[in-house]
Amino acid sequence: MRVLMIAPPGAGKGTQGALIAAHFGIAHIATGELLRDHVARRSSLGLAVQEYLDRGELVPDQVVLDMVREAMVAAKAAGGGYVLDGIPRNMQQARAAYLIASELGMTADVALHLDADDAEVTRRLLARAALEHRSDDTAEVIAQRLALYYEVTAPIIAWYRERGILVSVDAMRSAQEVGREILVALEAMRPFLEHVPVDERLPLDLTSLGEAFGATGPAASTSE
Ligand code: AMP
Repeated sequence: MRVLMIAPPGAGKGTQGALIAAHFGIAHIATGELLRDHVARRSSLGLAVQEYLDRGELVPDQVVLDMVREAMVAAKAAGGGYVLDGIPRNMQQARAAYLIASELGMTADVALHLDADDAEVTRRLLARAALEHRSDDTAEVIAQRLALYYEVTAPIIAWYRERGILVSVDAMRSAQEVGREILVALEAMRPFLEHVPVDERLPLDLTSLGEAFGATGPAASTSE
C-alpha cells in the first residue's frame, strides 16, 4: 500500500498516518516530524530550517525532497509500502515526489485528502498547543499555515483527482471514526490496486458518507 496525504494542519495527518502505517506494516514518512527532530537535535539542517518552522513557512523544496528520497529508498528496501505525511505541500513537490517515486518504481496508489474546515482545525491545533508546546501552534502561526495550505497545497488535490488516485474523507469527526473509514476504504481498494493499472482508476469521494461511518451532529455536515 502506497499512500500520500493532503490535509490542512490539524486535520489529523499525523494520527491517521501512524494508523495506516501500523495497519499495513509500512513506513510512515512524516516530513514535519523529521524536520522537528533535526531542530531538536540542533543538527546543521535543524539550525537552517528552524526559522521556517517557527514562522509556519515551507522549508525549501530541495531540503524535504532529499529527506523523502532517502526515506523512500529505505521504504523500498523494507517492502515498498509507505504513507507520506506532510509532502507534497505544493505543485513542484508533487511533481518531484512523483518523479522520485517513479524512478524507484513505487508511485502512490492513493492520495488521501482529509477534509476539515478552518474553525475545527484551529480549535484542534490550539488544544494541541497546550499539550505539546509546538512553536508553530500559536494563533498567528496557525493562521499563516492555513493560508499557505489554501494558497499552495490545496490546489494539488485537483491533480490527484485527474490522475484518478484521489480518496477524500470527511475529517470533521473523531480520530477513531475517521481512522475506521480510512482503513475500510483502503482495505476495500487493496485487491483492486493489485489488478487495475494506475492510469485506469477513478477518483473516490467518501465525504458524503459521514453517517454510514458514525458521524453525528452538525460538525459532520460542515465539510467543504
Ligand atoms: P507538519 O508537521 O506537517 O505540520 O509540518 C510542520 C512544518 O514543517 C511546516 O509548517 C513546514 O515549516 C515544515 N514542513 C513539513 N513538511 C514540509 C514540506 N513538504 N515542505 C516544506 N516544509 C515542510
